[in-house]
Amino acid sequence: MHELTLARPLFADMKAAAGKGLKNITRVVIAVGAASGVDPDFLRHSLKDHLFEGTSFASAALEIIVSEPLIKCRRCSKSLSGKDISADMPLNKCPSCGSAALDVVSGDEVRLVAVI
Ligand SMILES: [Zn+2]
Ligand SMILES: [Zn+2]
Repeated sequence: MHELTLARPLFADMKAAAGKGLKNITRVVIAVGAASGVDPDFLRHSLKDHLFEGTSFASAALEIIVSEPLIKCRRCSKSLSGKDISADMPLNKCPSCGSAALDVVSGDEVRLVAVI
């Protein structure tokens, strides 16, 4: 399984960020939101084994930061994050009012943080 459809535009961002000045990229940092549904291991594989090969990114260390999601209840406005949400049991009900109207405020994004 691959995350290539996601990895390709990310790689385009990396190349744009590296510009023409950087010849040997040493480190790439990506943030993956825990609520994005993206598996960091698959993303790493897609980038390192498929896209980086033969480019100036070939020997770069790939650092993937998993950012914690922030969820807000639409009914009672309670904010939930980190310890309130467990990865293997996704939150589908507000623990204070029981409402299922929950908005993911952040943590569902995948973005490039730095190319060094
Ligand atoms: Zn593969
Ligand atoms: Zn609520």
